[in-house]
Amino acid sequence: MTATTSDYQKLRAHLAFLRMTAAAEALPGELDHAVKAKLSHQAFLERLLAVEVAAVDERRQMSMTRFASLPSPFTLADFDFSAQPSVDPKLVAELGTLRFVEDATNVLLIGPPGVGKTMLAVGLGHAAVAAGMRTYYTTAADLAARCHRAALEGRWATVMRFYAGPRLLIIDEVGYLPLPAEAAAALFQVVAQRYLKGSIALTTNLGIASWGKVFNDDPMIASAMLDRLLHRSVVLNINGDSYRMRSHRARAEATRRAVAAP
Ligand code: ADP
Ligand code: MG
Repeated sequence: MTATTSDYQKLRAHLAFLRMTAAAEALPGELDHAVKAKLSHQAFLERLLAVEVAAVDERRQMSMTRFASLPSPFTLADFDFSAQPSVDPKLVAELGTLRFVEDATNVLLIGPPGVGKTMLAVGLGHAAVAAGMRTYYTTAADLAARCHRAALEGRWATVMRFYAGPRLLIIDEVGYLPLPAEAAAALFQVVAQRYLKGSIALTTNLGIASWGKVFNDDPMIASAMLDRLLHRSVVLNINGDSYRMRSHRARAEATRRAVAAP
């Protein structure tokens, strides 16, 4: 390929105008390579654009990761299934394909503290982000607080749109704190507006039968919410030992042995 200086400068200007900074940076090298390797126009252009695509893709991935606000880096691959026999590895692998997001299925992770509910929900979150799905993590308490602030500031519609947006919304720790009536109403509205439209992965320490408790013994709102959550859902009941306690026990055991040893 032959190119004049002014062609080159125009090309730089086009790339700058289009904010294709990665392609602009790669341009001299790619032109050199094209000449040396006698690339076709098509092959050269493809290589140059691929550089820009990779850069944009990486930026998008980073911004999606930031937006998702996942509280830990754990992925599904980090989950130790041998420590938690009540969790079916095949089911988790199936969830990891994210097919459940395609038809707005919800995932309910139910179990006592420390059994890995948050870890699994966050692992699903990382998988979703990696698959290019907009994901957002919140605790139930944070969701309630944010909705409360929004209500005070007259931004209710905006905050509801915000929680409707992500393909996958993770709501962690439902049931740890009883929700005031207003917070329960906010959570209900978030669940209701996502119903059949977007997936929720929800963790709770409460068995489904005791959901009334989260909602101040308001069985109406509890059952209306459960209807929508469960209609299309996968429920994981995790009833094993706390993983935290397990390693704590192992440490205590090791310490005891060390102390007992002469
Ligand atoms: P929960 O949300 O059910 O209270 P977490 O997901 O926060 O429990 O798990 C508690 C801690 O134990 C976390 O640090 C988590 O990474 C770890 N953990 C729990 N279960 C497992 C597991 N099966 N494999 C590896 N780590 C686990
Ligand atoms: Mg948790």
